[in-house]
Amino acid sequence: MLETTIAGSLPKPAWLAEPDKLWASWRAQGEELEQFKRRSATEWLKHQEEAGIDIVTNGEQFRVHFVHGFLEHIDGIDWNKKTPMGIRDNRYTVQVPTVTGPVSRPQSVHLYEVRFTRSQTDRKLKFTLPGPMTICDTIADVHYGSRPEMAMAFAKILNDEARELVAAGVDVIQFDEPAFNVFMSDVKQWGIDALHRAIDGLSCTTAVHICYGYGIEENLSWKRTLGNEWRQYEEIFPALNASRIGQISLECADSRVPLSLMRLLKDKDVLVGSVAVTADGVETPEQVAATIRAAIPYVDVERLYPCTNCGMAPIPYSVALGKLQSLAAGAALVRTQL
Ligand SMILES: [Zn+2]
Repeated sequence: MLETTIAGSLPKPAWLAEPDKLWASWRAQGEELEQFKRRSATEWLKHQEEAGIDIVTNGEQFRVHFVHGFLEHIDGIDWNKKTPMGIRDNRYTVQVPTVTGPVSRPQSVHLYEVRFTRSQTDRKLKFTLPGPMTICDTIADVHYGSRPEMAMAFAKILNDEARELVAAGVDVIQFDEPAFNVFMSDVKQWGIDALHRAIDGLSCTTAVHICYGYGIEENLSWKRTLGNEWRQYEEIFPALNASRIGQISLECADSRVPLSLMRLLKDKDVLVGSVAVTADGVETPEQVAATIRAAIPYVDVERLYPCTNCGMAPIPYSVALGKLQSLAAGAALVRTQL
C-alpha cells in the first residue's frame, strides 16, 4: 500500500552534464560518456533503493531531454533545420528540429539502457517515453500538416519501442504528456486515441504523466497567471478515467489543483505528486505525509501512489536527493498510521 515512485527524471551530476539546467551539454564523449551515464544511473538507483522508493527509474541519465532524447534516433527529422517554436501554447520558445518526411524507428532507441538498468536493480522498474501529443508540441512539421496525423505516426513507433522495453523487463511504461494540460480539447479529440495506439498490446502497467511543468522560471511565472484554482485537469480527467491507461500521474504538492478533482479518476491508480520540483528547499517527511493524507479522501489508498510532481532534472542534485528521501519517509509515516 502507498507504493512510492517518481515522475521520472533526476538531476545529472556535474561530471556527466552541465548542472541545474535543461538541455544541458554532456561533459564527455564516446565510450567515456556511456560509462559516465551508466555510473550515474547506478548511483541514482542506489539512492532510490536506500531512500525506500518502491518503483524506480534510471533518472533519465542517458538522454539530453525527455522529448529530444527519443527523437534523436528517429528518421524523418532534420536536426539542421531548426525552427523557433512557442511550445506549450507559447509558454516558452525553443529552437526545435523539423519533421521533413515520414517518421520511422530504424532500431530500438532505449533498449541498451533498459537492459543495463534492469541488471542493476530488483525493484519494479518504470521507464518514461514522451507522449505523442507532447512530441508534436516540441517539434516543427513540414511533412504531415496535421498534428493528429503526426501524433499517430509517432504513437506507432512509440508502441514498437515500448514493446521491446517491456520484453526486456520494464514493469511500468509511462508516457509524459505535459501538453495535455494545455490543449485540453485536443486531448479529447485525438490525444487519448494516440495514447491508446502507443499502449496497444503492452502487457505491463501503463501510465500517463500530466503536470504543470518543470520547476523552471517560465513555468512558475505561467502558474502565477492561472488564478487561485487550477482546473485544467477537470476537463480531461473524465476522458482519462474512461481510457485504457492504467495510472495517471498528477501534480498535487504546493499546487492550486483542487484535490477533489482526483475523484474524477475513480477507476485509475493515481500517482499523487507529494513533493514539488522547485529548487528552493526540501519538504520534511511530515509535509509529504500531510499532502498524502489530504489526498486520501479522494483516492482509495489501494490506488494511491505517492510520487513527485514532475521530473527533477533541472534542480540541484542534493535537493533532488533530499526530496526522494522525504517522499519515501513521508509515505512510510502515513502507512504506519493506516
Ligand atoms: Zn512533468
